[in-house]
Amino acid sequence: MKIFGVMGDPISHSLSPIMHNTWFRKYEMDHHYHAFQVSTNGVHDAMKGIKALSISGMNVTIPHKVSVIPYLDHIDDEAAMLGAVNTIIHRDGKLYGENTDGLGFLASLKTKYPNYERLRRVLIIGAGGASRAVGLTLSKHLSDVVDYANRTVEKAQSLAVETRQYGNSKGISILEAETQIHNYDMVINCTPMGMDSVNERLPIQLDGVTPDTVIVDIVYRPLKTSWLQHAEHQGCTIIGGLPMLIHQGALAFQDWLGFMPEVARVERLLQSQLGDSYVDE
Ligand code: NAP
Repeated sequence: MKIFGVMGDPISHSLSPIMHNTWFRKYEMDHHYHAFQVSTNGVHDAMKGIKALSISGMNVTIPHKVSVIPYLDHIDDEAAMLGAVNTIIHRDGKLYGENTDGLGFLASLKTKYPNYERLRRVLIIGAGGASRAVGLTLSKHLSDVVDYANRTVEKAQSLAVETRQYGNSKGISILEAETQIHNYDMVINCTPMGMDSVNERLPIQLDGVTPDTVIVDIVYRPLKTSWLQHAEHQGCTIIGGLPMLIHQGALAFQDWLGFMPEVARVERLLQSQLGDSYVDE
């Protein structure tokens, strides 16, 4: 039996234990996955604890994705590019850091939108950790243009400077993005706006959007945010945040155990956990 887990703060809402424990049962493995509440002051002890308690693998979530890095023996190219780690592998007494957020997003896009190769021009709302993972990955692997619009425009501009190592990119204001939205094939919300409340302000107004624009919200609680509902009314293809969550988890599972688990059944299970009948396919 092996122990896996996720460390973060807060962590009680995490869907990762349900997801991984479901996979362990499906593949008749007697492993267990646990959510560990770890405060910022507790990161040092938690990282020592992985080795001391022989924990085989750990996911890392907000706010520890950067602060765990000094405790790792090695990080892979993806984690180095993103400057953040979301998956730790404990193997032969050493801790290896990886990041499956960006590639998980890409895998979810390929599954939910088979025509994904047409998505050449992308606008990302936000300039935090998730924007960085999604934006750099899309620029490196798929799209010609990845622009960022953010409340704090300077952060969008500095993320654009980094992204230009792979392709065209600029940082703009939300207002500017609203007037240029018709120029993009895909618009992705990477801010927490819309989480747990369907009534709050939208990340960006969609008045100028055309129906051939794919609208993605990486928020998954609720499954269909009010921003996605607006996009649906405009006739756009919409994709929610749950597939990204599941695919980044599936890639972590593969890093730990050597094969990709199935995602469709777990997606249905988590949809029912989130208490919504919305299915984004
Ligand atoms: P983060 O690093 O804190 O960045 C948050 C970004 O959102 C910043 O650009 C921030 O703008 C902007 N923002 C926050 N509140 C805002 C508001 N009220 N109005 C306008 N802009 C606002 O967070 P993160 O790690 O990137 O995560 C962002 C969201 O993605 C979270 O909801 C997280 O749960 C979700 N997420 C989902 C997945 C998935 O698998 N589906 C994976 C990762 C993250 P400023 O720069 O101006 O502060």
